[in-house]
Amino acid sequence: MSDPRILTGLGVSPGYVVGRAYVIPWGLPDVPHRVISQREITSEIDRLQGAVDAVRRHLEGFRERTAHRAGPSEAKIFDAQILMLEDVEFMSEVERLIRENQLSAERAFEFKALEVRALWAQSGSPVLRQRQADLAGISVRVLHQLLGHSLDELLDQPDEPVIVFTQQLTPDLTVEFDRDQVIGFASVQGTRTSHAAILAHSLGIPCVMGLVGGLEKIEHGMSVILDGTHGTVLLEPSIEEVAEANAKEQRLQALERELERVVGQPGVTADGVLISLRGNVDLPEELNQAVEHGAEGVGLVRTEFLIVGRTELPQEDEQARYFELVASRFPDQPVVIRSYDLGGDTFPAPFRAPAEANPFLGWRAIRVCLDHPDVLRTQIRAILRARAAGDVQLMLPLITQVEELDAAREVVEQAREELVREGVRAGSDLPVGVMIETPAAVYLAEELAKRSDFLSVGTNDLTQYILAVDRSNARLAHRFTPFHPAVVRALKIIADAGTREGRAVSVCGEMASEPLAAFLLLGLGYRVLSVSPPRLPLVRWLIRQIDVSAAKQAGESVLQAATTQEITAILTEGIVEFIDLGLLEAGQLPAARAPTTLNS
Ligand code: PEP
Ligand code: MG
Repeated sequence: MSDPRILTGLGVSPGYVVGRAYVIPWGLPDVPHRVISQREITSEIDRLQGAVDAVRRHLEGFRERTAHRAGPSEAKIFDAQILMLEDVEFMSEVERLIRENQLSAERAFEFKALEVRALWAQSGSPVLRQRQADLAGISVRVLHQLLGHSLDELLDQPDEPVIVFTQQLTPDLTVEFDRDQVIGFASVQGTRTSHAAILAHSLGIPCVMGLVGGLEKIEHGMSVILDGTHGTVLLEPSIEEVAEANAKEQRLQALERELERVVGQPGVTADGVLISLRGNVDLPEELNQAVEHGAEGVGLVRTEFLIVGRTELPQEDEQARYFELVASRFPDQPVVIRSYDLGGDTFPAPFRAPAEANPFLGWRAIRVCLDHPDVLRTQIRAILRARAAGDVQLMLPLITQVEELDAAREVVEQAREELVREGVRAGSDLPVGVMIETPAAVYLAEELAKRSDFLSVGTNDLTQYILAVDRSNARLAHRFTPFHPAVVRALKIIADAGTREGRAVSVCGEMASEPLAAFLLLGLGYRVLSVSPPRLPLVRWLIRQIDVSAAKQAGESVLQAATTQEITAILTEGIVEFIDLGLLEAGQLPAARAPTTLNS
């Protein structure tokens, strides 16, 4: 039975801290319904403006403070909140409610803020859903200001270093307190990519979001251990548990020092095999981190953000500009752009797709693109244009038939001829790669390799389809593992097929960023790994310590194993010779977790 003292959530900023809980009721205050008279309308609008100005000044102060404490790009997070306050449409709607419905300023502001929140929640856009906390932060402040409440009482500076617990951590609350007074954050709502999570991470403050079970079990002043690495909170810990948490923090710091040491060093194994380590880029803001962490190109440019949450399809020019931007950040290095992987459980508005009983087995990825050749052609034209500016390549997701590859190649050829006819500068020889993500593609790996320029294994989907385990089903998370013997054997078949046909084979699924799995992949013959930018230092550090010869030996043994447990035991035994597992345990995200992406 699980320990009732442990609350679980998402670790969004790593680290282990021990301290007292400081519970802040940070939410929208109760706003009494109040109707004003005609005569009061002008003064009510002035009162609204006064409150908004006061909050804006406060946020400008936070922006300055954040620039000092975290850096200029983190400070820009407050521009997003300030812009919301300055949004003409929003503010004129609030004023209209005061004028026409004769609502008090606080009632009108609350009404509009709740309306926008509901709209964003329904939008299906992950970006808008994430920005809800930004809106909540300004709403709380403006409403308290209008109600004449003093925030100083609510946000009383604690007199010892504490761990702040709240329903929703907003960016402004994250920087409200002095660094030496708050040693950790925990909230019920929130995601890994929310602004508050980014800020907590940049400030080096451990943080857990999405705490299951809410705040009911937390009492103000209670002693807790917050584990921002694995995303848990332990209530009322024993002396031994506190000592263990402190030891883990020490190991984490030792690991961080090790990771800093390998920045800028080549990805060469201890026995001299060169491994190409690329980054996966889902959003433009990840480019900087990929460059800073020394990615040797981009092994997977996800393009769904260009379309999800929008009402119109993106034009060729906009796409070409983005692809050229990515290429310009990685001169002379490969930039592998994946055609839209739409579908699964996310469908952007422009497609108006009917709901399906089994979306992950349905109209998804290449299937959607081939049924909308105009959409695919626009994207491919943009990729061909960017090819003139760098080593840009095209990659096709969820291929199950050779015909799909042939059809996509046909579109590439047509698009190229069109561009030549139009006199538009474009690359003449676009490499086209296939993602191996389905059992069908595994069995056809040799034929697909023959007809394409490279293979790239999407282990997130490959694991899902081989094991028949929905990658986004939390109840099945323990079954979702690339260390299953069937997945491991498939990985071997793919690597061998690529090698036989003389094609490069890479792995761009989440698996490549998990140390034990990266060791396995090298052992099975993979020499190109593409991982999310924050994981680059860890994988580089690992590569530089291990011997490929030992990985190969482990690779041969795991192919004889019948269970996941045997496989992880063989790999652990193989890697322990090179790596301090204590360091890994303290610094690592849970092993081969089910990935969360725009599609999942
Ligand atoms: C994968 O399936 O492993 C992959 C890289 O693609 P995505 O996670 O975007 O489906
Ligand atoms: Mg995939």
